[in-house]
Amino acid sequence: MRISEEILKHQRFVVTTHVEPDGDAVGSALAVFHALQSLGKDVVVCLADSVPPLYRFLPGSYEIQRKVPLEFLPECVMVLDCSELRRAGDIINQVDLRSVVLMNIDHHNSNTHFGDLNLVEESAATGELIYNIIKDLGISISQEMGICIYTAILTDTGGFRYRNTTRQSLQIAAEIVGLGVNPGEIAEKACESYPVERFQILGKALQNLRVGCGGKVADFFVSRSMFNGNGISPSIVEGFVNYPREINGVLVSVFFREKGDNEYRVSLRSKGDADVSAVAQLFGGGGHRNAAGCLVEGNFEAVREQVLRRICEVIQGT
Ligand code: 5GP
Ligand code: MN
Repeated sequence: MRISEEILKHQRFVVTTHVEPDGDAVGSALAVFHALQSLGKDVVVCLADSVPPLYRFLPGSYEIQRKVPLEFLPECVMVLDCSELRRAGDIINQVDLRSVVLMNIDHHNSNTHFGDLNLVEESAATGELIYNIIKDLGISISQEMGICIYTAILTDTGGFRYRNTTRQSLQIAAEIVGLGVNPGEIAEKACESYPVERFQILGKALQNLRVGCGGKVADFFVSRSMFNGNGISPSIVEGFVNYPREINGVLVSVFFREKGDNEYRVSLRSKGDADVSAVAQLFGGGGHRNAAGCLVEGNFEAVREQVLRRICEVIQGT
């Protein structure tokens, strides 16, 4: 594999991933961190946003930096789980891209192949590609790497439930369980350790749940005021979009989060063939067929109306 040959040639690495990191992003970055450290490399994981509290159980999470240290001059920058370079946020501006080997490792179809080396393969999670690289490097998977990779796959497959789950996802997970990693324990940490405020906000948000497009689309939103301004991280609502998917007959669920004045983060999830990444791309975002997102500006009802109209068009075409 070109990527592993190149890794072996260098000593200093910056590893980064996308803004508003999820379990696949943090898990993949930390798995690489442990793997490269086991080879004696110097590696700094730098993320533009802080690690959501839910993922701080991942081994190494407290070593993640918010900026590339000034004195650290990497030879390689590894960008994980980003379909385009700007998804990595400000980290990219902190390195001289002309003097490094830029490695792009991602599982999005829409990836722009922005790297000097690109490993872009369709798989349930970037964590699966990281597993393959680690194996190719001849490293045996440690418990720490296993926990990180398992969490990456667990979260990006919605707990091995979504249609992106493959035999490979389950085989990697099974191998990691064979190392002594406990699936129930990880699920409790990654999926069942939310603060009570999440459910208080969910209760408020579900009041505005609406179902349209002949019962096939469900949407709801959170406004900034629902956070009560008490410093709660927006990551507390991660995954809200999944709840309306559980309604019988709903093919697409949509979740709007007020991010700034007239600025909404839109999360989209679908069942079956309905391609929500096509809708996200119309609004400058991206993602996968069944999970995508974008940022849309405008007044809430106008944003909602535009997004839902596009979704309904996609559904009627399938
Ligand atoms: P989420 O709804 O969890 O924020 O995002 C779901 C998926 O959509 C992510 O894993 C990512 O692949 C993609 N995604 C979300 N927001 C954006 C965006 O603004 N740009 C791009 N390119 N992809 C996004
Ligand atoms: Mn991912």
